Amino acid sequence: MSVTHVSVGPAAGWAAAAVATVALIACAPGRTAADPVSDTEWISSAEESVTAPPRGWLERHQSADGSWDPDPAAHPCGCLDGDGAATIGRAGATGLALLSFLDQGDTHRSGRHASVVARGLRWLQSTQSAEGCFSGLPGSGRAREHALAALAMAEAYAGTRSPLFRDSARRGVEFALGLRGSEGAWGAGGPADPPDLEITAWMTLLIRSGVDGELVAGLDAFDRVRAWIDGNASLDGSRPGLVLLLHHLCGAGRGDPAVARGRSLAMQAVPRWGGPGPEPDLASAYLGSVAMFGTSAGRPFPSGDPAWEPWYAGLKTLRWPAIPPEDCAAQSYGRGPRRLTDTALATMIEAFGYR
Ligand SMILES: [Zn+2]
Repeated sequence: MSVTHVSVGPAAGWAAAAVATVALIACAPGRTAADPVSDTEWISSAEESVTAPPRGWLERHQSADGSWDPDPAAHPCGCLDGDGAATIGRAGATGLALLSFLDQGDTHRSGRHASVVARGLRWLQSTQSAEGCFSGLPGSGRAREHALAALAMAEAYAGTRSPLFRDSARRGVEFALGLRGSEGAWGAGGPADPPDLEITAWMTLLIRSGVDGELVAGLDAFDRVRAWIDGNASLDGSRPGLVLLLHHLCGAGRGDPAVARGRSLAMQAVPRWGGPGPEPDLASAYLGSVAMFGTSAGRPFPSGDPAWEPWYAGLKTLRWPAIPPEDCAAQSYGRGPRRLTDTALATMIEAFGYR
């Protein structure tokens, strides 16, 4: 079966929950089906930028060149000042920020943030190497960086089928396949690095998007990822939602024992945050939510799947304290150098309805 055609219909109270026809965000709400109209030109962003005031924190903190820069020095307002260092590069941050807009149904030519999306995608394309790599980071860090940027490009293509993105997205997927290790999973930098669960999750989302968008075909990628999970039982212990996601993306249906087991384990690790303390792991919360949504029965919203209520209850604990509207950090999430990526991830989690 295809995991991209989950049998969930639009549910009452669920904003525009049209079932998407494409991968990642096939599992996520708020995404509309692919626009049948293809275009060959970027929108003209000039008019929109004059008429539409910046709305959210991510929009206000997009760089003039269209990227999102995780370097605190790039934000004189001080929003990224604080302890720690950014754990992501510019391409990865830009990919993640773009995904949060694409996830809400914005495209490069429609939606409230069309010009934001258009400028971000254009910047990403300008950074892509001839080999298809988006990452500007050497060595370790390269794979996650590439996965996030390439996923944004693949999802931009999947959502619009615009020829503007096809070649860039296809090369991004093909480059990702070349970064796989001998076990069929992905490590931090390249094929020689030990496999990493989260990077493999982002990469598998990318490959799924590429296959569903007909950018690449006839892959053994999913079989190999599944073999890697099955051969590494200890993976379940740390981040079970990610393991469930991989089973789901690799084609395991609801009747598959691995899915039933994965859901059970994921429910024992529902995302929670007590605050203050260390910030929650929003990547796990987001990827786990995609997995739970994608493997739910019937209409998960607002009810219909008993597992959703405790999962939602957990997501609600991830709320960040409100920031006064006059503060530059208003509408953001997290603190310090992580504010950029955490805000993007929190926006994507919010789409699952925990507000
Ligand atoms: Zn700021």
